Amino acid sequence: MKGLPPETDFLVVGASVAGLRAAIELADSGRVLVITKSDPPDFKKADLKNEAYWLSDEDEVSLHLQDTLDTGDGLCNPQAVKVLVNEGAERIEELISWDKHSAPKLTFELENPHTRVRILHSQGAPTAKQFLRVLFERAQSLKSVSIAPRTFAAEIRTDGERVTGVCLIDEKGVPQEIACSIVLLATGGIGQIYRNTTNPETATADGVAMAFRAGAEVADLEFIQFCPTALHMKKVPRFLLDETLRSEGAYLRNFELDRFMAKYHPLAERAPHDLVSRAIVHEMEVSRAKDPFVYLDVTHLSSARVQKHFSRIYEVCMAYNLDITEDLIPVRPAAQYSVGGVRADLDGRTNVAGLYAAGEVASTGAHGANRMPGNSLLESLVYGARAGRSMREAERTISRVSAEPKAAFSNGPVDAGVEELVGQIQDLMWNEVGIVRMRGGMQKALTALDGMTSKFSHPKTRRAYEAANLHLVAKLVAQSALAREESRGAHYRVDYSDRDNKKFLKHSIVRGTKVAFAA
Ligand SMILES: Cc1cc2nc3c(=O)[nH]c(=O)nc-3n(C[C@H](O)[C@H](O)[C@H](O)COP(=O)(O)OP(=O)(O)OC[C@H]3O[C@@H](n4cnc5c(N)ncnc54)[C@H](O)[C@@H]3O)c2cc1C
Repeated sequence: MKGLPPETDFLVVGASVAGLRAAIELADSGRVLVITKSDPPDFKKADLKNEAYWLSDEDEVSLHLQDTLDTGDGLCNPQAVKVLVNEGAERIEELISWDKHSAPKLTFELENPHTRVRILHSQGAPTAKQFLRVLFERAQSLKSVSIAPRTFAAEIRTDGERVTGVCLIDEKGVPQEIACSIVLLATGGIGQIYRNTTNPETATADGVAMAFRAGAEVADLEFIQFCPTALHMKKVPRFLLDETLRSEGAYLRNFELDRFMAKYHPLAERAPHDLVSRAIVHEMEVSRAKDPFVYLDVTHLSSARVQKHFSRIYEVCMAYNLDITEDLIPVRPAAQYSVGGVRADLDGRTNVAGLYAAGEVASTGAHGANRMPGNSLLESLVYGARAGRSMREAERTISRVSAEPKAAFSNGPVDAGVEELVGQIQDLMWNEVGIVRMRGGMQKALTALDGMTSKFSHPKTRRAYEAANLHLVAKLVAQSALAREESRGAHYRVDYSDRDNKKFLKHSIVRGTKVAFAA
């Protein structure tokens, strides 16, 4: 697109599943500007995430609802789950009807902890990639929708009560104020607060940080899901090796090449994934290696079966000269999904008038304390559409474009000092607010994070903004985790290893400097 407009009716931050789905919903109601800090997608190269839910012939909405509630460990908002499971099939059927290419061949798979064959695959390709392609093509075909790539949202502007616009940094590093009273955050996850994550480099928690600075409440941030087995090789992205490998018979071996999972759980490698992550952490600690990891082993399975059934994993590993039919796969746990986020109702509204949130950045209570794998793409689709609908109905007031931004910005070069600080945050969070947590470590992390605050006060580059966002959200996660004195779902504390339903069958909510708990 040619330059950014000074004002728009609707501004959507994030051009992935949640943002594009909302934009499509808004297209008949005014000018929609969708911005994304990423490059425009290349669907040939895109390596998007995996599967989504739908209902196979042997499934029922009520069973999907029950599985989701069970996985959420008591904290799901039942209304939010009902919306997810009731509207999911319709949203996917609609998506298939929008696809201009030949109808994809859909298959269903079983994945732990689903009790039914339910995970949807499309022509052997990851479903998310297909979702995104269809949404992108449709959004691009709509005249009122403009998509601006490599454009970074830095701040949400408010007049103290409601949203008035957004401060952006365009692809040349030039700041711009855009007036808009209805803004959707669809910025995805926060995984980059951790040293090890399967999230993309763009997952720098910008949406949660911007919303919080604008006065929005954030909820349930202590619930971070860690996948037990991400590829661990030098200078190679932390590619997710999903649990189907373990459910199909893969072994986990420690540094001495011994299988160890039977020591931790009667189901051995098929134990629940948070338990597997903790067992791996323990084995890595015991190994005392400088750069510890364990191995995933599929060499005892038939080579033909591995290549056919896990073709994508096989191909990705081969690209790094690792033949998984013959070699052990070095793996480590990695942060994968943020269950909490910007507190939003079932229509995406936050407590700041005009500010909406949908997808992974939002916290509606649909995942409780633990997300069922596959539910998140569906969430982005269902709640993206719902946010779009409610934004359409919202009162619009275009205020004058705010005064020229004062700070001078630039897109580079990347400041080495900033990278060092980011590394420190990631290490603190990985070591002290990671898979296994305890009071002392979390307090230590908070003190260290507090000590860095002044270094993030005047960001001048996009990367410095990202670093400031990581710093703020790391603190919010650590505060929430410290306040929840129990273990539940994706939050595990050694010093409070049981659930405490009396005190903590509630959502954590951060308002200003305080963490509160509310039903
Ligand atoms: C390795 C991995 C595997 C997964 N597997 C599954 C799975 O099998 N099934 C499933 O359901 N879910 C899975 N998930 C989770 C799921 O993919 C995400 O929850 C989902 O992609 C979230 O969609 P979203 O639209 O909310 O945001 P995202 O897809 O994360 O997109 C965020 C968008 O916001 C943009 N953005 C961010 N910050 C800014 C900013 N400051 N300014 C401008 N733009 C910004 C980004 O550029 C991007 O366009 C997986 C996640 C990972 C990391």
